[in-house]
Amino acid sequence: MSFEMMQVHSSGLGPECDALRNEVRIFVQNELTENGFVPQCDSWLRGFDKSFSRKLGARGWLGMTWPKAYGGYERSPLERFVVIEELLAAGAPVAAHWIAERQMGPSVLRYGTHEQKNKILPGIASGDYVIAAGYSEPDVGSDLASVRTRAERVTGGWQLNGTKVWSSHAHHADFLFVLCRTEPASAGKHEGLSILMVALPAPGVTIRPIPLLTGEHHFNEVIMQDVFVPDDMLLGQSGQGWQMITSELVLERSGPERFMSTFPLLVELVRRCQAEPENTSALVAVGELVARFEALRILSVTIAKALENGNSPGVEAAVVKDMGTRFESDVTETARLLFPVQPSWNSHDTFTRYVAQSVMHSPAFTLRGGANEVLRGIIARGLGMR
Ligand SMILES: Cc1cc2nc3c(=O)[nH]c(=O)nc-3n(C[C@H](O)[C@H](O)[C@H](O)COP(=O)(O)OP(=O)(O)OC[C@H]3O[C@@H](n4cnc5c(N)ncnc54)[C@H](O)[C@@H]3O)c2cc1C
Repeated sequence: MSFEMMQVHSSGLGPECDALRNEVRIFVQNELTENGFVPQCDSWLRGFDKSFSRKLGARGWLGMTWPKAYGGYERSPLERFVVIEELLAAGAPVAAHWIAERQMGPSVLRYGTHEQKNKILPGIASGDYVIAAGYSEPDVGSDLASVRTRAERVTGGWQLNGTKVWSSHAHHADFLFVLCRTEPASAGKHEGLSILMVALPAPGVTIRPIPLLTGEHHFNEVIMQDVFVPDDMLLGQSGQGWQMITSELVLERSGPERFMSTFPLLVELVRRCQAEPENTSALVAVGELVARFEALRILSVTIAKALENGNSPGVEAAVVKDMGTRFESDVTETARLLFPVQPSWNSHDTFTRYVAQSVMHSPAFTLRGGANEVLRGIIARGLGMR
């Protein structure tokens, strides 16, 4: 991050990435000039704007790494990294495509049939499809392999019954990816799980809002009663669900969204320090935050490079998620303590608005994508300590 420019710095990722970064910055600048969006903190969760996602799709910035045959652009994970980093830095509204593009698309690409790839991937790459994750259930979050949603074999497909909670954007979704039990857990709870892709709306599926503290409608409870899912909407093989979920989680946990949800607020903090150069305690505190941001970014880039080389670094991803989400919360706390304001959602002052957004959303940072305590267990195992 450069203190003068208050932008993510561009060095070190190669000339293609530098050129792409400039393209994204020009696009973002134009959007801001034309009032295309209002920057916000936690924009990858709260900035739901399908028309913005479609604009990204039209520029070739969704599904960038996927084969051209399925709507992708065959670009590198590092190039994708640059695009998402710039969009997050700008607080752009990327929530409509986020889950689909980050994890569902790659899962379909890896485990899906040719027909499934054709059916789903081009719609994600164009920004048209919203996909929700139906994994957590009442009483089942960290211990995900204990899901109680069941699918039973019927003629031509599966009959699905169960309840999911915290399903982000399910009320907008074209598909809900449901983790369910298709075989008994007799061989162990990680066996016999599958992922069914439910096209929405569907008979038997009821979606109810679970309002956030802020009143926003983001989460849902999804009740499935005798929902018929045709055979061709089983992703991969029956019983392969746990393997698919764990490979998806590396993508879910290692990206820059795990330490950039409060980046717009960090930039405002830097601005305040620039306006008060005599405030040395603020300079020290914000300087420490900027240094931590740089370290996290290096770690996240390293994982993007590992993915480029075909590796799946689960432990490192858990480190990014644990350290990154604590960092995001620390940005919020530092802002609150250094420059006290009355947080206000509708304030004309950008800093005040960002503080309000960050304070209200920070309880979710360490929970979503897997509770940090659980991730520390994964790290401990990776270090041979468990
Ligand atoms: C903003 C947001 C968006 C989300 N979106 C989705 C979504 O789209 N789809 C979806 O399926 N889910 C979603 N979730 C749910 C999320 O995956 C779960 O909240 C998360 O996995 C934790 O599960 P839980 O809430 O049931 O907490 P629990 O599992 O009950 O854990 C609560 C606390 O208990 C402790 N704990 C639990 N197990 C352990 C352990 N083994 N070791 C140490 N401590 C432990 C931890 O302190 C943890 O924070 C979302 C959550 C949030 C906050």
